[in-house]
Amino acid sequence: MNMPQPGSPQVAARPSIPAVRITAVRAAPLFGESPKGGWSAEIKPEDSIHAIIAVHTDAGITGYGSVFTDGRLAEAALKVLEPLFLGENALEPERVSEKLHQNTFWMGRGGTLTHTISGIDIALWDILGKVTGLPVGRLLGGTYRQRVQPYCSLLMEEPARMRDVVADYRAKGFRAFKIGWGPFGRAQDVKLDEAIVRAAREGIGADAKLFVDAGASDALWPHGLKWAMRSAEMLKDYEVGWFEEALRPDAIDDFCHLRRVSPVPIAGGEVLTRRQSFIPWLTRGALDIVQPDVTKVGGISEQRRIAWMAYDFGVKYIGHGWNTALGVAADLQLATAFPDVDLVEFIGGSPYVDGILAEPFTLDAEGYLSIPEKPGLGVEIDPDKLARYTPDVRSLLAP
Ligand SMILES: [Mg+2]
Repeated sequence: MNMPQPGSPQVAARPSIPAVRITAVRAAPLFGESPKGGWSAEIKPEDSIHAIIAVHTDAGITGYGSVFTDGRLAEAALKVLEPLFLGENALEPERVSEKLHQNTFWMGRGGTLTHTISGIDIALWDILGKVTGLPVGRLLGGTYRQRVQPYCSLLMEEPARMRDVVADYRAKGFRAFKIGWGPFGRAQDVKLDEAIVRAAREGIGADAKLFVDAGASDALWPHGLKWAMRSAEMLKDYEVGWFEEALRPDAIDDFCHLRRVSPVPIAGGEVLTRRQSFIPWLTRGALDIVQPDVTKVGGISEQRRIAWMAYDFGVKYIGHGWNTALGVAADLQLATAFPDVDLVEFIGGSPYVDGILAEPFTLDAEGYLSIPEKPGLGVEIDPDKLARYTPDVRSLLAP
């Protein structure tokens, strides 16, 4: 073995990178085109449930992130967090985010502050990538893949319309689909539930992947374990790849039971925030697939740790950051850094995903998305496009 000799120039010394200081963090709430959630209290155009975050620095480099909460809450959280992040080194995302978490735990950890730290953390990873010239996935430890399959997430519809909607997205190139929320379960009609799933399977064809999301984290979900067990049996007949949020989001004992008896894999976890919240779900074996949302859970730093924890428990990780192009971009970078990530959520027909980037995401011939290889998140916001969905894009982008 050739050992480097002492003093030999085996590796050229790199000049150290000076600190890049945070000078401002701004939020831009998105309005007007929030995708319908299928919630019992449906989202209105004047509601803001997503916000873009910009972290500005003294190096003139700006990082971007995304937060899944009401924009007013994100703006208030930034005011609270400001003394903690101003002047911090933007090249240390995990340390800075942990500082924000640990200094605010008494103000309601897991809520608005955690959501907002998520957007800051994503933006800090973006900055670290831009300064080092590396995509975030490389910074997270490696590149397992160059592309990943997006599953097209669509609201449940009445059967005839469901068939048409999924067929339309199939024609656009998607080969994996998730249908969720809407009348499924809420109409209290198991025959209708089955008819919707059958119509979706017919619309996408036998060769496409199909997943079903009951959306039981909705307000006043009417069903319990027996409904979920019966529905899981039905889904098996349509080759459904997982059953998501089949139970109320805190019903961990029922999730544990359902996972053991269900013939289809059980998925959930989108409403959990903070890595610590995932510990009982993993140690107790409540899920086959865990779906943290990078724009809520604490950002890339937190999601990376949850995904590795899940991996070591034999649980599959699939990201839920579908809500803006920046959430998707973060999920794509995470998707390259883990051995077994074969899917990423991608909502069909959202202007916040398709309509704010200089180069929108496009599917390849097999229905996959390339994982950007440019520095940082590898995507670029188009200010003119973004201005359609937020009233003051200038103050977001102003250093
Ligand atoms: Mg869901």
